[in-house]
Amino acid sequence: MSDQWIFLNDDFVKKEDAKVSVYDHGFLYGDGVFEGIRVYSGNIFRMKEHMDRLFQSAKSILLSIPYTHEELTDLVVKTVEKNGLKDAYIRLVVSRGVGDLGLDPYKCKRPNIVIIVEPLAIFPKHLYDTGVDIVTVPTRRNRPDVLSPKVKSLNYLNNVLVKIEAHLANVSEALMLNDQGYVAEGSADNVFIYKNGKLLTPPGYLGALEGITRNAILEIANELGYDVREEPFTRHDVYTADEVFLTGTAAEVIAVVKVDGREIGDGKPGEHTNRLLEKFRQKVIKEGVKVNYNDQGLNVS
Ligand code: PMP
Repeated sequence: MSDQWIFLNDDFVKKEDAKVSVYDHGFLYGDGVFEGIRVYSGNIFRMKEHMDRLFQSAKSILLSIPYTHEELTDLVVKTVEKNGLKDAYIRLVVSRGVGDLGLDPYKCKRPNIVIIVEPLAIFPKHLYDTGVDIVTVPTRRNRPDVLSPKVKSLNYLNNVLVKIEAHLANVSEALMLNDQGYVAEGSADNVFIYKNGKLLTPPGYLGALEGITRNAILEIANELGYDVREEPFTRHDVYTADEVFLTGTAAEVIAVVKVDGREIGDGKPGEHTNRLLEKFRQKVIKEGVKVNYNDQGLNVS
């Protein structure tokens, strides 16, 4: 028996018992929404922003979450406490729920809510020292007027294809362009370039998830006095940038040192990337919703 507790609908259950029906429309059709959230030293980072994004994604697909913001926040905090983890990754999933084999979501009576808290599978430390080698892939980002990339839905096939294409190119991550050929984002992270003294990231309307790490980096860069802009850019701008980095809940800030065989800068993580990563880490330790533990790291309630 594992000692990991999962929140499933109204209850905490052991990992082995955390099961949902094969008739769940999240499984049958990718119909649902989710969030990936991080706990740093017992503080849940930007919980409100994650909850806002989850509820907005759900609203966009007319999925009604049977909890308020506050109730769901409280359940996430309780799940972290119950698992006694101070540094963790949280996966919060709201699927359409159990229906029949037809597509009709109105046949699904109640969403399934799952909260998983796991010890962090931290990105290999050496990648922060060396940076990563990436490619751009043929798969284009979903158009915002077809399936908006701002909706963090369980339909991640667009992103899965990008990951497959990255593997086929023997690299771990890749960039997607949008339908007009502008750089959109990675398979599960946002992208920034530093060029001619400016820090750029693609604007949301080009087709990218509004990453919570991205927004934190925009804030930090502004505080540090960078000339930071949300502006469209192309592959050429990436190839000729002084620095390139990716941001995301799991990766935090990770330098990109090669794109499609073109070395970026001097082929090592750049000073601005390192500075922003350092400031980001200082910030995340201070902020967040506090979780209560006793001396053994277990919840006190
Ligand atoms: N883009 C996509 C497609 C993602 O899945 C993620 C990860 N949630 C991100 C960007 C980064 O977002 P965040 O910083 O909120 O993790």
